[in-house]
Amino acid sequence: MASAHILGFPRIGAQRELKFAQEAYWRGEVSLATLHDTGRDLRARHWALQQQAGLDLVSVGDFTWYDQVLSTLALLGALPVRFGFDAANLTLDDYFVAARGNTEHFAMEMTKWFDTNYHYLVPEWTAETHFEGGVDWLFEELREAQAQAHQAKVCLIGPLTLLHLGKVKSGLGHSLDLLHKIIPAYQKVLNRLQAAGVEWVQIDEPILALDLDSQWLKAFLPTYQALAADAPKIMLATYFESVQERAALLHSLPLAGVHLDCVRAPQQLAVLLEHWPQQRVLSAGVIDGRNIWRADLTQILENLRPAHHRLGQQLWLSASCSLLHVPVDLAAETGLDEEAKSWLAFARQKLDEIQALKQALNGNLAAVASQFTDAASALSKRASSPRIHNPVVQKRLQEIVPADVQRHGQFKDRIISQQAKFDLPLFPTTTIGSFPQTKAIRQARAAYKRGQVRHLDYLDAMRAEIRLVVAAQEKIGIDVLVHGEPERNDMVEYFGEQLWGYAFTANGWVQSYGSRCVKPPFIYGDVYRPEAMTVHWSEYAQSLTAKPMKGMLTGPVTMLQWSFVRDDQPRAVTALQIALALRDEVLDLEKAGIGMIQIDEPAFREGLPLKSKDWAAYLDSAVRAFKLCSAGVRDETQIHTHMCYSEFNDILPWIAAMDADVITIETSRSDMKLLDGFGEFAYPNDIGPGVYDIHSPRVARVSEMQRLLQKARKVLPDHRLWVNPDCGLKTRDWPETIAALENMVQAARLLRACI
Ligand code: GLN
Ligand code: ZN
Repeated sequence: MASAHILGFPRIGAQRELKFAQEAYWRGEVSLATLHDTGRDLRARHWALQQQAGLDLVSVGDFTWYDQVLSTLALLGALPVRFGFDAANLTLDDYFVAARGNTEHFAMEMTKWFDTNYHYLVPEWTAETHFEGGVDWLFEELREAQAQAHQAKVCLIGPLTLLHLGKVKSGLGHSLDLLHKIIPAYQKVLNRLQAAGVEWVQIDEPILALDLDSQWLKAFLPTYQALAADAPKIMLATYFESVQERAALLHSLPLAGVHLDCVRAPQQLAVLLEHWPQQRVLSAGVIDGRNIWRADLTQILENLRPAHHRLGQQLWLSASCSLLHVPVDLAAETGLDEEAKSWLAFARQKLDEIQALKQALNGNLAAVASQFTDAASALSKRASSPRIHNPVVQKRLQEIVPADVQRHGQFKDRIISQQAKFDLPLFPTTTIGSFPQTKAIRQARAAYKRGQVRHLDYLDAMRAEIRLVVAAQEKIGIDVLVHGEPERNDMVEYFGEQLWGYAFTANGWVQSYGSRCVKPPFIYGDVYRPEAMTVHWSEYAQSLTAKPMKGMLTGPVTMLQWSFVRDDQPRAVTALQIALALRDEVLDLEKAGIGMIQIDEPAFREGLPLKSKDWAAYLDSAVRAFKLCSAGVRDETQIHTHMCYSEFNDILPWIAAMDADVITIETSRSDMKLLDGFGEFAYPNDIGPGVYDIHSPRVARVSEMQRLLQKARKVLPDHRLWVNPDCGLKTRDWPETIAALENMVQAARLLRACI
C-alpha cells in the first residue's frame, strides 16, 4: 500500500499561538513553563491533524522555537563559538540570544531559505566549530509523539545542506573542511533515533537542486555511506527544483527513499524513474507546498499512474516541500467568501488532499470519490469564473507593442530635458519614500479600516501628516521631496487592496522568521485597476511645495514576488497585467503634474530562479514588466526606481536595461562595495547609492557620509550621483530622522562647495 506523509507542518499555529507565546516570554510576561506548554500543545495538535487526516507517519522535528537551522545547530552542539555557550547544556534563553542578540552579542545573520520568504539563521563556521552533541529537545519531542501513539518520522536538515548554508568565518578554507567533524555528530543522532525505535528519518538536502560544484557533489556518497550504517531508514528529501541532473548520483546513494518535488519540476519524475533502484521508496511531492490553490486531484492521480504501476507500494505521497510556506487552516479564514474559499487549500486541507490521493492509488477511490468530485467542480467553476477573467485586461495584453516597453528618447537626451525642467543642483538629495510611521498614524489607519473613523476625518489626518513631512523636508533643504507614505501599511497590500484580481485573507499567516509572520495577498484573477490609487495623495503633496514631489509606486515584480500567485497562467503574464495597471497609474500621475515617479522594486533580485540557467528568462520578463509600467511617460518625466540590499553585479545588464532615469540602492552597509560594477559604461543612468543605514537609530555623522560619497565618486561621475538614505524611513523615529537627513544635506552641500 502506498503511504502518505508530509515533510513538515507549519509550527506557528492557526492563530499564531507560537508567536504570541514567544513574544510574551521575551517581554517577561509569561514563564518558561507556559512557553513550553504552548509548544507542546502545538506539536500535539499538528501531529493529531496528520494522524486524523490518515497519514501513515507524522513528522517530528519540524517544530522549532525560532528557526530550523538554529535548532539543528543546537542539536549538534554547533552554535557559533563566539557566544561561548555550553553546547550540552544550552538553555532556551541561550538559544534566543543567538537568534536575537543582546547587549553583549550581536544576533546571528539571517537570510532567505532558498527562494522562499522564510529566513533562517546562518551558521558560522570556524576552525573551532565542533559538533560534539547538544540539546535533547528533538528526542524529547520524539518521546511525546510516541507517547501519543504516533508513528513518528523524524525530520532533519542534512549535513551537506547545513554546511552549505553556513558561512566560513575564520580558520577554514571551505565549509567542507568540517565534514569529517559533522558526520560523527549525525551518526550519533541517527543511532539514538534508531535505538528509540524510529523506523524512518527524513534528511533534507535541498542543495541537490542547486547548481553545485563537483566538490559538493563528491561529498554525497561518502557522507551517506557513513550515515546509512546503523541508522533508521533514510528518506533523502529534495525540493524547490529538479534533481534530474543528479539522477545517477542519487541512485548510487545507500538510501531507503528519495523525495522529489513534482510540482516545481514535474518532468523529473519520469527521468528519475528510469533507473530507480529496487526496493527504494519514491516520495512524490505532488501537492503544492508553496502555494494555496486547491489541487486538481483527478489530474494528479492520472499523472501518478505510471509511477504507481512501476513502484506499487514503494510510491509514497506527499506535498512538494514542507507546508511551512503556506497558511495553516482555511477553516480559520473569515476574510473570504465561500466561492474564493472553495478554490483554496491551506496546510490542513493539503493533508486531506494527500490522503485522498493515497486512498485512490490504493484502490479505495470510492471512499474518497466525493473529495475528487468536489475538487473537480470547484476547479471547473474557478476556471470559468467571471471574477477571474477580464476581457479588457486580456485584450490589452494582446495589444502590447514594442513601443509600449521602450521610452521615447534615450537616457542621454531625456536627462537633458529633465535637467531643464527640474534644474537640480549637483548631487541632488532625496529620500526613498516613507517617513516615520508613528503610533498615531498606525492607529488612525487601523481605526479607519475598522470603520471607526469617517472617510473625511481620515483624509484630514493623513493630509496633516503629509504637511508635516513636506515642511520637514523643506526646512532640512532636501531637493526632491516625497509625501511620506502615511496612508500605506504595507507596500504590496496598499496596492493589492485597490486592484481587482487581488484578495486578502484575514488569517493566512506564514512564518517569515522567528516570531515574525507575513500575510501575503493572493492573486486569483486578471489584474485590473478600476481607478487611480495614489494620485490624489501625490497631487496634494505637490500642491504644498514648489520643489519636485516624487509619486511613489510598488513595481510589478515586487507585487508579484510578495504574493501567492495564480497557478493557471505563467508568472510572467501576471507580471505584465500588474504592469499594465501600474502603467495607467504612472500616466495618471504624470497627467496630474507629478514630474518624477518612483517605482520600487526591492524584490527584483529575490525572484531569481535557483538555477542560473533560468536566470535570463526571468530577468528578461522582469525588465519587460518594469518597462511596460514605466515607459509610457514623456521624456522630461523622470522615472526613479529603488532596490534594497542585494548583490547587483551579476545582474547589472538587466538593471541597466530597466532604463530608470534614477536608481536608488542600499549600499552604505557594504561600504559602497556594492557599487563596484556600476561604472559609467556598465550603468549609464543616474544613481543614488544610500549614504546611511536606516536600520539603526544611530545618526551617522556628516564625515561618514562624505567618506561614502567620496568612495562613490571613484566609481561614478559627479553628474550621475544622487544623495539619499539606504531605504525608507518608516521604522525610524522623528528626531533621529531629522538629524540624519540634516547631516545628509550638509554632506551634499560640502561636496558641492569643493567642486
Ligand atoms: N518606498 C518604500 C519606502 O520608502 C520602499 C520600501 C522598500 O524598499 N522596501 O518605504
Ligand atoms: Zn529599500
